Amino acid sequence: LGRLYGPIGTLLNLQVEVQTALGVFQRIFEYEDMEPDVKDLTGAKALSSVQGQVGFHHVSYAYQPGQYALQQVTFTALPGEVVAIVGPSGAGKSTLIGMLARLYDPTEGVVTIDGHNAASVTLSSLREQVAFVTQESFLFHASVRDNLLFAKLDATDEELEKACRQAYIHETIAAMPNGYDTMVGERGHRLSGGERQRLAIARAILKNPRILVLDEATSHLDSESEAYVQTALDSLMHGRTTLVIAHRLSTILAADRIIVLEAGRVLESGRHTELLDQDGLYARLYRTQFEKVALS
Ligand code: ADP
Ligand code: MG
Repeated sequence: LGRLYGPIGTLLNLQVEVQTALGVFQRIFEYEDMEPDVKDLTGAKALSSVQGQVGFHHVSYAYQPGQYALQQVTFTALPGEVVAIVGPSGAGKSTLIGMLARLYDPTEGVVTIDGHNAASVTLSSLREQVAFVTQESFLFHASVRDNLLFAKLDATDEELEKACRQAYIHETIAAMPNGYDTMVGERGHRLSGGERQRLAIARAILKNPRILVLDEATSHLDSESEAYVQTALDSLMHGRTTLVIAHRLSTILAADRIIVLEAGRVLESGRHTELLDQDGLYARLYRTQFEKVALS
């Protein structure tokens, strides 16, 4: 493929890069130093527009044969519900949310979206319905604008700016040397962790998916950035099914369901008050960690 120039060229190159790299998710595999094992099945159908019901049905996952990071995880999220995942470090929280973005398919069990088996629909159609916002959100070495357009190729400048305002990142971009044309990513203008996260939120707003997958970790943010990220996340979550590794008390208090994971198993699930009444792991985590600082 010859080199293409100009904004369309950049975008096409970006698209080629995206397609050859299986999307931004490829970078997550590189980051985690693992091979993607997810491919379209023969005859996989596209998942068309969905309501956003998510089901985990006896889902188990082993990174290595016999070593389960998740075991028999079962829960349902109705369209628009927020499910918060909590649990100690190594409990399987990242593995669980990665399963919904289909970074990997279950070793056993089924993940469903509106009743469709996620493993038997096309990856590209599934990822159109699911936005993934984490601390490690990937930026291409490209302009801010192209990094945003990646989420919605035909977005107008007005749409981009509106999304960036909602994500509290517009002012930051406007103050950069070349505004939305500023190059970011490797060798580009350096963004702070909070700025990257807010850019990822702007991307998710543009993408406008029914389902959100979030890792709320905010440990590297200063308190001002954190307040902006929180407000942006709250507006992003509104009206969408959200699976979130919760680090903020306000998120777990507002969650329709809290899933408490330990060693890959769902130990408890319910709302905050129900779980406090059970006086188990959740109550203990809450007392020792949640009241004071974020969980790992
Ligand atoms: P949490 O997010 O709750 O800290 P993880 O989902 O990251 O937990 O990890 C769950 C378990 O899976 C841990 O025992 C962890 O060591 C293991 N694990 C996570 N990622 C990998 C990987 N890429 N390869 C092998 N084991 C992994
Ligand atoms: Mg994790």
